[in-house]
Amino acid sequence: MFLIFITIILFIGFIELLSFRKQAVTPRNHRRYTLCSTHYYSKHKGKWQECKKCKDEYSIENYVYFATNYFNFEKLPNAMKITIRCVNCEFESNTMEDFAFETNEGFYCTKSKCQKKGTAPLSK
Ligand SMILES: [Zn+2]
Ligand SMILES: [Zn+2]
Repeated sequence: MFLIFITIILFIGFIELLSFRKQAVTPRNHRRYTLCSTHYYSKHKGKWQECKKCKDEYSIENYVYFATNYFNFEKLPNAMKITIRCVNCEFESNTMEDFAFETNEGFYCTKSKCQKKGTAPLSK
């Protein structure tokens, strides 16, 4: 249940991120899009940069994104390098910011053809 919730939040977050990318780092954004705040509000112990619970809670792509995105006041040092590939067009990038959303199939980039494909109902 929790994972579904997170996925929905992420999805909404992505849409907002796309339209507000240049927005300032506000406390609201910081709260919604960073590990630091998730860690804090989940009442984990220790520093978020070293927290294993946070790491376990997200896929590696999400983890790195939340730890290093634009909304962080303090980014995760030495974040692991990840490569994400669009399942539709093979576009590759090492940041989730280049992708519009994630489905069970994988990530879809921001090209309109890929977005269309990603949001289309599954059909054979
Ligand atoms: Zn944590
Ligand atoms: Zn694509």
